[in-house]
Amino acid sequence: MEKDKMEKFEQKLTAIRDRLVGGVEKARRDSKDEVKGGVPDISDEASRTYTRQVILNLGEKEREELKLVELALAKISEETYGICDACEEKIPKGRLEAVPYTRYCVACQNQKEEG
Ligand SMILES: [Zn+2]
Repeated sequence: MEKDKMEKFEQKLTAIRDRLVGGVEKARRDSKDEVKGGVPDISDEASRTYTRQVILNLGEKEREELKLVELALAKISEETYGICDACEEKIPKGRLEAVPYTRYCVACQNQKEEG
């Protein structure tokens, strides 16, 4: 996938992540005066540890969603984003736009759901 497209998905994923982690992250940002506007750096180790604590306060569904978002963000940094985890084919862009943190193409997803 092209870098600029990947960056768009990265922004989307970060937005979803922010929504999930929600108020707690916001409170943290507000208390840190140096982070004003723009996207805070979420990749440092302290943030990761902190996020793990926040995750404990989320519901199961949100936790699962957040896990997928984190996985997708990791794949973006490895430049393997948009590749199906099961068959390693490219996931159609339309599907990624609908569910940016999906791990599978439609066929593999259906297979997983059918068991
Ligand atoms: Zn697949």
